[in-house]
Amino acid sequence: MDVEEFRQNGKEMIDYICEYLEGLGERRVTPAIEPGYLRPLLPSSAPRKPESWSDIMADVETKIMPGVTHWQHPRFHAYFPSGNSFPSILGDMLSDAIGCIGFSWAASPACTELETIVLDWLGQAIGLPKEFLAFSEGSKGGGVIQGSASECVLVCMLSARAQAIKKLKQQHPFVEEGVLLSKLMAYCSKEAHSCVEKAAMICFVKLRILEPDSNCSLRGATLRQAMEEDQAMGQIPFFVSTTLGTTSCCSFDNLSEIGPVCANLDAWMHVDGAYAGNAFICEEFKPLMKGIEFASSFNTNPNKWLLTNFDCSTLWVRDRFKLTQALVVDPLYLQHSYSAQSIDYRHWGVPLSRRFRALKLWFVLRSYGIEGLQKYIRNHCRLAKRFECLVLGDSRFEIANDVKLGLVCFRLKGSDTLNQKLLSEINASGKLHMVPASVNEKYVIRFCVTAQHATEQDIEHAWSVILASADSLISKQPGVMKPKDEKQASREEAIALERRQREKLAYKRSFFVRMVSDPKIYNPKMSIARRHVSSSEDVHEVPGAEEEESDADNNSQAVQRPLASWISWPLAFIFQGTFDEAKGSPQLPVRFRHLDTMVRLKTNGAAENSGSENDPKQTNNTQKSPRKSPHVCRRNREY
Ligand code: PLP
Repeated sequence: MDVEEFRQNGKEMIDYICEYLEGLGERRVTPAIEPGYLRPLLPSSAPRKPESWSDIMADVETKIMPGVTHWQHPRFHAYFPSGNSFPSILGDMLSDAIGCIGFSWAASPACTELETIVLDWLGQAIGLPKEFLAFSEGSKGGGVIQGSASECVLVCMLSARAQAIKKLKQQHPFVEEGVLLSKLMAYCSKEAHSCVEKAAMICFVKLRILEPDSNCSLRGATLRQAMEEDQAMGQIPFFVSTTLGTTSCCSFDNLSEIGPVCANLDAWMHVDGAYAGNAFICEEFKPLMKGIEFASSFNTNPNKWLLTNFDCSTLWVRDRFKLTQALVVDPLYLQHSYSAQSIDYRHWGVPLSRRFRALKLWFVLRSYGIEGLQKYIRNHCRLAKRFECLVLGDSRFEIANDVKLGLVCFRLKGSDTLNQKLLSEINASGKLHMVPASVNEKYVIRFCVTAQHATEQDIEHAWSVILASADSLISKQPGVMKPKDEKQASREEAIALERRQREKLAYKRSFFVRMVSDPKIYNPKMSIARRHVSSSEDVHEVPGAEEEESDADNNSQAVQRPLASWISWPLAFIFQGTFDEAKGSPQLPVRFRHLDTMVRLKTNGAAENSGSENDPKQTNNTQKSPRKSPHVCRRNREY
């Protein structure tokens, strides 16, 4: 394609995009295809000869579009919004055309400098403490654009880990870093996004997942108790990931309570506001981030709710030197003479190469202005309230969350199965797309206002689709929703459900069905396991740190009731000499939230698959055989 062809095809592409976005409402919101639909439609290998642009575009419409889920569709109410706007698309186009790789200031100065400035603009608009802004007087902080909120959490955890190890190394200079690592404990709420758990797996640290209160908010006292329990057992709390606007129900952790607990132990407090953080550009939503002054880092995704296309996840840190200490590598070929005066964003994240993402955010901030963006956010929040009113107007339904922003969690009063059926029916119709969540152990349907130009009519239309499906479902299930029986039936359902859950919990450490993109958040079958302080798990013996053990044991006896929580054990734990044959703890069950897995470890023999997870006898089974290194057997679920 030469420049003239590009000019022509580019104009046609803009036309195609405009028609696509304008005509979106005519399409099904979700595709009506089966897995593997595309393979027979495309050749099995790449063409040897060039093909015409018109042939390629024809295939886009006939082969690709039928398999697309239209996230910008006015009937798309799943997940959270996927940011999109014309200024942002143009910003990305220009960034692609410039095609620079801005890993250091010298690699493309404007790429770095615009990022720092735009992050200060947005940080100010959000109302972050001035310590987070690069250009404020005496600041050590600043902002950076990452590819995703998951990356933001990961780099913060990596940095917190490096800080913690550094500090411990000063206190215990002769203890190996790996040993110190095995003592670190991170924390989050059960409502935190599963990216926190992934970060902990990558960082090789244990993560304790805590039970929030009935409003799905993590409280300071819960965190304090967990940290004290863990300290008593010789663990070292070093990182807490809090959430403002959780994925399942948009709840808010209590930063004012959690902050002082973290400060007390010098633990890094990260605040994940992937969705809700964008709303803080509106004055009326700023109180939702009360306690932000305690944060070490904060992230929000303009690519979710600030009209900016993926990828654009903004992260601010209070101390950029702490952040980069964990990530600096400095080969000769990347060094330049301005390092001392400039920011090199390659030290702020995992990848070396970076796109010029600040351009699209700059275009968006300038094209809409803060006021335009506030108007957009407020419209979504107003429409969510409108939807909530519609739900509350029908006594067969109930609301399951405190609707503060653009997300409403609702359900038919009745069983989880009934609500599952309702959602499947609606999604299968292709008329509307929503996803489920588990809120306070109940299956709920999430309705999120996502479309850029969402209107009241869209909300009313969505409600009419939901009502039609509910009516048809209820009419097919005579008796289920008769007003008289309803209370009794749901009480019985609740008792039966509780019993089933108790039975399952007795046999299982965790049970997860991967349903949609985020197995934890959208999996209504997620269950909390009580942290089991058995003799085998209780042994935190670390080679080289024996002196700490007896204290830990003594202190642990003071802990009366362990909190209901769930620990994600990293592989590090397995290989850190956890097993003490003399104490008779020959195996350790290990849980991986994302794999339906039972891991059998034996100090005296090869690991074996535990077999049925439902069989508690097998879980306690001990076999002696010649010593080999521990193996991990996993049974992966298909997802
Ligand atoms: N944190 C929260 C609160 C989220 O809602 C999500 C995704 O929806 C994430 C983190 C993960 O975001 P990302 O896809 O940018 O990694």
